[in-house]
Amino acid sequence: MSQKETAAEIFAKDKRDYLPVFARYQLVLERGEGAYVYDNEGKKYLDFLAGIAVNVLGHGYQPLTEAVAGQARKLIHCSNLYYTQAQADAASKLVKLSGLDRAFFANSGAEANEGAIKIARKWAHSIDKEKSQIITAWDSFHGRTLATLTATGQPKYHEGFEPLPGGFSYVHYNDIAELEKMMSDKTCAVMLETIQGEGGVYPPKDDYLKKVRALCDKHKALLILDEIQAGIGRSGEFFAYDKYDVKPDIVTLAKGLAGGVPIGAFIVTEEVAQTFKPGDHGTTFGGNPLACAAANVVLDTVPEHKFLQQVNEVGAYFKDKLEALRQKYSTLIKEVRGTGLILGAELTVPGREIVNECLKKGAIINCTVGTVLRFIPPLIITKEQVDEVLSILDEVLAEKVS
Ligand SMILES: *Cc1c(COP(=O)(O)O)cnc(C)c1O
Repeated sequence: MSQKETAAEIFAKDKRDYLPVFARYQLVLERGEGAYVYDNEGKKYLDFLAGIAVNVLGHGYQPLTEAVAGQARKLIHCSNLYYTQAQADAASKLVKLSGLDRAFFANSGAEANEGAIKIARKWAHSIDKEKSQIITAWDSFHGRTLATLTATGQPKYHEGFEPLPGGFSYVHYNDIAELEKMMSDKTCAVMLETIQGEGGVYPPKDDYLKKVRALCDKHKALLILDEIQAGIGRSGEFFAYDKYDVKPDIVTLAKGLAGGVPIGAFIVTEEVAQTFKPGDHGTTFGGNPLACAAANVVLDTVPEHKFLQQVNEVGAYFKDKLEALRQKYSTLIKEVRGTGLILGAELTVPGREIVNECLKKGAIINCTVGTVLRFIPPLIITKEQVDEVLSILDEVLAEKVS
């Protein structure tokens, strides 16, 4: 073990040795407990980001840490050339919860989406070689591999990486008329986040997703829902699509699925599954017993009625309080959006400084697309912790208007 260094030493090392791709906050985190994390000097922070919607059971949740430690002692990894109890269990649970038929495990969200895109293309090819168009939404986020960054409808992520994979087109989320115009029998799939996260927390309006489902059926295209951020109970339903009463042909998961251990998954219908043959897809690490042991704890805990009820209750309380804050600071907060524990407050000013001020006062929150405060806390937070974070935000906003 290397010697413990000061925060300044760690910043300097990172600045010298790490790829400069993250606009990091000046904070070295060392440990966590429930909804709190501690920096390397012992200062405590209320964590309303949860590693970007990852630590759904909070930090140091004992059944999770014990499952991971126990599995690590037995077998961390073997190849997908062999079976493990942990992987078989996790897949069965996902199939049962999703109402779909077959699961596959990857290591990240981008990889889950990459796999979903591949299987959709292979399925469509078996009908018509020209049926390759994949329609995604502007302001979406689907990952950083070449195909998933192309699927991501934000030109800033494309610039400099051309030539990009072909066959992707974009529509405005929630605009069903635009989608209807763009779709044809050459459409392979429509790929959407059930609730847009990174793009600024936009839930689907009215019957948007149901109408998307109907258009997919009409053109025999697949509906791929990316629930990497909105899934795993965050919306108040285990799968956010259950909230909107739609069923996808493919759903992708990652972030919260193993409570912090790297994992991704896509789940498909039997018809789609049958287009993949041995060798068509694979992974070395994906679904290894360590990750699946962690996923099994999440899959045994989050779908419980009482757990989801708590997410809905605390989420509704949180949203009401944010709405009250919007009324109090109507010159700073334009709109409050979201459901369950994926909430956003759109500001009239850049959010980074507000996030920094909250951090100084002991609260970790996040800002996305420059002006949307995004709240994606551990799903185990209490109303008291909501009050705690919002009283810090209230103080920070008060200083801004004065
Ligand atoms: C985070 C995210 C991804 C990418 O996940 P990685 O694990 O970072 O590759 C994809 N889609 C959505 C909706 C996300 O929020």
